[in-house]
Amino acid sequence: MSEDDTGLDRKINSHNPDMHPDDFRRYGRDVVEWIADYLENPRQHQVAARCGLGELQRLLPNAGPPEGESMEAILADFEQLILPRVSHWNHPHFHAYFSISSSGPGILGELLTAALDVNAMLWKSCPAATELEQVTVAWVLDWLGLPANWFGMILDSASNAVLQAIVAARQRAEPQSRVIGPSGRLIVYVTEHTHSSVEKAAITAGIGQSNVRRIAVDSGFRMDPKCLAQTIREDIAKGYRPFFAVATVGTTSSTAIDPVIEIAAVCRANNLWLHVDGAYGGSFGLVPECRHFLNGVEQADSFVVNPHKRMMVPLDCSLLYTAHPAVLRSAFSLEAEYLKTGVENAVDFMDYGIALGRRFRALKLWFVLRYFGRSGFVVALRKSLRLAAWLGDKLAADPRFELVASPAMGLVCFRLRQGDSATNELMRRLNSSGRLFVSHTALDGRFTIRVAIGNIRTRQRDIEQLWGSIVEGLHGIDPIDA
Ligand code: PLP
Repeated sequence: MSEDDTGLDRKINSHNPDMHPDDFRRYGRDVVEWIADYLENPRQHQVAARCGLGELQRLLPNAGPPEGESMEAILADFEQLILPRVSHWNHPHFHAYFSISSSGPGILGELLTAALDVNAMLWKSCPAATELEQVTVAWVLDWLGLPANWFGMILDSASNAVLQAIVAARQRAEPQSRVIGPSGRLIVYVTEHTHSSVEKAAITAGIGQSNVRRIAVDSGFRMDPKCLAQTIREDIAKGYRPFFAVATVGTTSSTAIDPVIEIAAVCRANNLWLHVDGAYGGSFGLVPECRHFLNGVEQADSFVVNPHKRMMVPLDCSLLYTAHPAVLRSAFSLEAEYLKTGVENAVDFMDYGIALGRRFRALKLWFVLRYFGRSGFVVALRKSLRLAAWLGDKLAADPRFELVASPAMGLVCFRLRQGDSATNELMRRLNSSGRLFVSHTALDGRFTIRVAIGNIRTRQRDIEQLWGSIVEGLHGIDPIDA
């Protein structure tokens, strides 16, 4: 192919090596058309990728192209090589992990963020990015009915949010740790159902895995506050310094809600930093009849909620709030000459966290918050609650199944009464049918299927089909558990 055919002569331009604006318009239209078709009919794609390990790596060249390639070639490979190996989280039958979905306004906001390509590290590096971040986090805080004076910022993930929270708590408990590292006496309190990101944060912050205590849970998988208080007393008696506890609103395995009010009282009495993980469940605070899920959260020292889970914002968008911005800042700020701006009273978000370079995530959040309004989120969340309750009722009424937890936040956890291997076999059949995708967890040490219903395109008919697939999948499963 000659350069004229590929358009490379236009592409490689020493004055401006970027794509020619006319080409951008043309391919941009093609891509937006493709996205519109995709969102209109995500069912045309497979729900879970069916490919072997390493398959895509074998199909792609070992080295990057020495010369530029045409957009036609790149887009064709996207369709032929990449797409068949994508698991479609936007598919209405995607019920694995926590089912989520992006949305039109979120995708458009993301596109503009990429176009502007600003760095939200300092107010001065892009005033709009910093101030829109301040405005949007305050809007969500207000909708959730949490303290208006909390400081908020947007991060990529709840995992990094809890890492920042644990470092802030470490700073409060052992200010010298910033200079010489932690003492090795600091203790973190979680349950076996707390997200693994907390343990990872403890590892990263130098607290040490052996200093993470797992507090017993009740029959609803909620932390036992009495056991928390007792364990703290024992640790103090042994010379340790309890400093950080996590209560979860919506655990990953079963969406259990830890008793935040009681845990907060124990934390206050013992001077522990309480982090509330509402990565998944926090969004339900938007729904009036679910607002009580967040009771007690106002007493937390930090709180995280992920709009990229149930608020239709494309990955990634996680909101970290804290009642102690000065502590967060004292944990993370460093004075590098090249980053001094001389702008007094400005919030420079790089001072409140690990990352210097920060994406303009507030733009997509702002688009989504404005486009749907609070009522739009309430409608979407209520729909998932309704669908999950319908499926939960079917399972509860059928003696072959055991509903392991009440489907409180759009998550249905069940198993077969026959036992673990039968439940595992049912999941294998469901997923290998190619019609849907579910995942599993262990509750009370037993294999449990999780059906997460959170995609905005999932309808009643989809859940009826899912129920049909579950019943069909039972045929011939050995009644005796292996
Ligand atoms: N906390 C809970 C309860 C979660 O369910 C998850 C992920 O699903 C996380 C934290 C981690 O979230 P992220 O992927 O944003 O780090």
